[in-house]
This record gives sequence, structure tokens and C-alpha cells, in this order.
Amino acid sequence: MKPTTLPPHKDPMGAAIADYYKNGRAGKLRVFSSQFDEDEIPVSQLFRTYDEMPALEQEALQLASGTILDCGAGSGCHALALQDMGKEVQAIDISPLSVEVMQLRGVKQAYCVNLFDENYLQKFDTILMLMNGSGIIGKLENMRAFFSKMKQHLNPGGCIYMDSSDLRYLFEDEDGSFLMDLAADYYGEIDYRMQYKQVKGDVFDWLYVDFQTLAYYATENGFKAELVKEGEHYDYLACLKLV
Ligand code: SAH
Repeated sequence: MKPTTLPPHKDPMGAAIADYYKNGRAGKLRVFSSQFDEDEIPVSQLFRTYDEMPALEQEALQLASGTILDCGAGSGCHALALQDMGKEVQAIDISPLSVEVMQLRGVKQAYCVNLFDENYLQKFDTILMLMNGSGIIGKLENMRAFFSKMKQHLNPGGCIYMDSSDLRYLFEDEDGSFLMDLAADYYGEIDYRMQYKQVKGDVFDWLYVDFQTLAYYATENGFKAELVKEGEHYDYLACLKLV
């Protein structure tokens, strides 16, 4: 599939972010998946301040240095926190509505661009992918394309900080045994669809990846994965460096 940006009528998260920015509140951002029951993303969480961020995200912001790319930046919460720290950051997102909000909120460099666009070639010292940032990879089969794109974007010595979760707890029985069909797709490959008011998005793939699996694919593709910090519930922050 060609990497593109989202038309506003297919961008429920962008519509929710724009609504919240304009009115200080928003309706329900609904999340559907063939694998789970219907869920909801509290829109205010997309506007979290540094103090409201989980420790893993705060750690990534502290560690980020040099020129920084905030990839899939949403409302720009991380980009704004980095600017407040005096750091140089560029924010990209496929949602034009979110990018407009980022610009209005004062993110100095905010662009509507798909990470996988072959014409997007800028280099950075740090690349941030936060709030289950591995999601943008979509499926394990895209790992190779992802790492080869990252090679183009990283300056020598640079690194990617990415957070993710191991979804294995969803498949564990009460006695701790593991109910997983080994012939099935990887258990972290999730399909989602979102809706905000009348705006319905298309189905998209979103990858949750456990650290061991991430480290395996990193090694296969000329990177080294380090576990920086573990969260409270099967979540973690990883640093991916070129070998
Ligand atoms: N990082 C933000 C938003 C997370 S939601 C936060 O922590 O609050 C994920 C974001 O990634 C969405 O805004 C979505 O539009 C964007 N996104 C998804 N695929 C992308 C891609 N291929 N390139 C750039 N941005 C992408």
C-alpha cells in the first residue's frame, strides 16, 4: 500500500484532537477491533503534559538528544515538552487535522507526512515513537521495511526510542498457562478502526511487540535493541541503535 496521509473525512482521531483543541472538550473517540470489545481513548490523554505522562515517556524525552523526530506526534504533547526543554524537534503525522493543531499549539516544525513516504528523507539523532510507537510498523512482516527506512533517517550514533507492550497477558489463563495458537498470526498484530462522532476511519494494522521479538528483528536488520526501562504492566521502552 502506498504511504499516504489521511483525508479529514477518514480521520477520527484528528477530528477529536481538533475538537478538543477548539472547545476544551471532546466526545467519545471509539475504538473497534475484531479481536477485542469496543473501547474508548480519552481525548484529554492525547493532550497530556510532561507531568501527566507515564514514566517511560518521560524517560524517552529526557534521553532524546541532538535533532529529534517525533514520529506519529498526534496533538504534539511530546514535541511541546521537548521544545520546553530547549531541544530541537520535528513532528510528523499522517493526520492533517492533528498537524494543524500542533502548529496552532506552537510546535515549530510540524509536517503532515507519512513516515514511510520515500520522498521523506531527513536525518535525525533521535527518533521518538511513543504511545505504543511500534504500532506504526503495523505487522511483523513490515519490520524489514521499517528498519531499512530508519537507516535512512538516523545520523551515525543515533537511536530510536520506542515504547510497546507484550500482549501475552491477554492470552494467559488464571493459572498462568498460555493459551496461544502457535500456527496463528503473532499475538500482537491487532486490527483497529476508530470513530469520532460521524467520522469513521478505515481499518488499520497496529503492532504490539514483546521485547524479545523486537530484539530478534532488530538484530536481523543491522540494529541492536536495548531494554531501557520496564513499565508497570507488560510495557517497556526500548532503544534501537545501528550496529
Ligand atoms: N504520539 C502521540 C499520538 C499517538 S497515536 C501521543 O503519544 O499522544 C499514533 C499517531 O500516529 C496518530 O496521530 C496517527 O495519525 C500517527 N500515524 C500513524 N501512522 C503513521 C505513519 N505511517 N507516519 C506518521 N504518523 C503516523
